[in-house]
Amino acid sequence: MTRAGDGNAFHVAIVGGGPVGLATAIELGLRGLNCVVIEQGDGRVGNAKFVDINMRTMEFCRRWGVAEEVRDRGFNRDYPQDLIYVTTLTGYLLGRQPFPPFARFRTPPTTPERIARCPQTIFDPILRRTAEALPSVRFRYETRCENVSQDGAGVTLQLADLANGRSETLRADYVACCQGASSTIREALGIALDGAGTLSMNANVVFRSEEFLRMHDKGPGFYTAIGPEGRWASVLAIDGGTLWRLQLTKPFESATLSTVEAAALIRRFMGQDFAFEVVSALVWSRREVVASSYRRDRVFLLGDAAHQLSPTGGFGLNTGIGDVTNLSWKLAAAIEGGAAPSYWVPTKPSAARSDCETSALQPAAGKTTKRSAARRARPSSRADPRAIAYARRCGRACKRSSTAPTAATTTDRGMKTPDCNSGIRTRTRP
Ligand SMILES: Cc1cc2nc3c(=O)[nH]c(=O)nc-3n(C[C@H](O)[C@H](O)[C@H](O)COP(=O)(O)OP(=O)(O)OC[C@H]3O[C@@H](n4cnc5c(N)ncnc54)[C@H](O)[C@@H]3O)c2cc1C
Repeated sequence: MTRAGDGNAFHVAIVGGGPVGLATAIELGLRGLNCVVIEQGDGRVGNAKFVDINMRTMEFCRRWGVAEEVRDRGFNRDYPQDLIYVTTLTGYLLGRQPFPPFARFRTPPTTPERIARCPQTIFDPILRRTAEALPSVRFRYETRCENVSQDGAGVTLQLADLANGRSETLRADYVACCQGASSTIREALGIALDGAGTLSMNANVVFRSEEFLRMHDKGPGFYTAIGPEGRWASVLAIDGGTLWRLQLTKPFESATLSTVEAAALIRRFMGQDFAFEVVSALVWSRREVVASSYRRDRVFLLGDAAHQLSPTGGFGLNTGIGDVTNLSWKLAAAIEGGAAPSYWVPTKPSAARSDCETSALQPAAGKTTKRSAARRARPSSRADPRAIAYARRCGRACKRSSTAPTAATTTDRGMKTPDCNSGIRTRTRP
């Protein structure tokens, strides 16, 4: 075994300092294991990819002493979550489904925690600060892991310091590979990804606007716009204040989205121009793949390196946190007591099951949930006849769109089944 703690030798080298790598550092650091987080970036989080934290992840946040901060700092919990369907925000209201704010969500009897909204831009720094406070955890930012080789006694990692171009080696008993979707370690180990592959390309635009809510009369909520082509975009409150995320619900054809194009989409959603600033525009692929194996000898795959799930319903980060809490105590037992970590067996089949579950929440999967806003579409009889005709066309499109589950259904099946999106529930799905 490596003599952890001696200079460049560690019990566990964690490759990747995204949320899953940071959570791994906390879990191992709390157990007193010497570990190092190797991250090629500088630790700044540019884009809030995930926003929803399920109750199982919140239970772990409670163990890490950060549940309150995650719950309270990330989001205005009094912001209503009504599902609001519109032609545009300044156009017609097609339907409204009341939904309570996070503050009024009830805690289920089986857990002391509730789901929370905490954007990644807040969540990751909370985890980083928590990990940094643990004496056995080290960080190497702006350092890329170039190669990993194993022998009977441990793992050797080749690192490149991106700041000064120097190379160095590091030894560890085990490697937690938290490299995300494009994991080079997984590829080098020849571990294949099984599953349906890319389901669709999608685009998200985060924007800041002080006057967003003042610009329209629909009130606060989660908005979906229905155009002649059907449901085309939604806008979600990221912090319940001034930060918003527009998500295109139709597959996006292009590999990039410019700021000018993003701004045009935001204006279309509002139905007129207003003051806003585009914070980021992200094109991402909705995928359904799971690694054929989560482990090769001393190297373990966690998070998106192991599975990429369609995120709707809180899959992805929450599933990765399930991996972390599954593996960490077993690694500690292996290091301290010589037990063999049995990580692969319980987790992998359930991530595969999560794949089915989460894809079923997607329009592409064709599941029908007739809880349509269109049934309540009531354009005002005093409106311009051309506008009424437009709203009717949108209403028909809305009915077509209702083959997709509503956000309420998504919440029910995704966020309210935490063991599923945490990758813990192992019931096999036909
Ligand atoms: C639009 C969108 C919305 C989402 N919403 C949700 C949600 O609400 N809830 C949810 O649970 N999930 C959600 N997800 C999924 C979630 O974002 C991911 O599952 C999660 O971020 C994966 O975390 P990770 O740490 O495994 O990987 P990543 O976040 O990709 O982190 C990997 C890290 O490894 C580093 N790295 C890679 N290679 C190297 C190397 N060779 N050397 C050093 N460092 C390296 C990278 O720089 C990166 O920082 C969403 C995803 C998207 C795209």
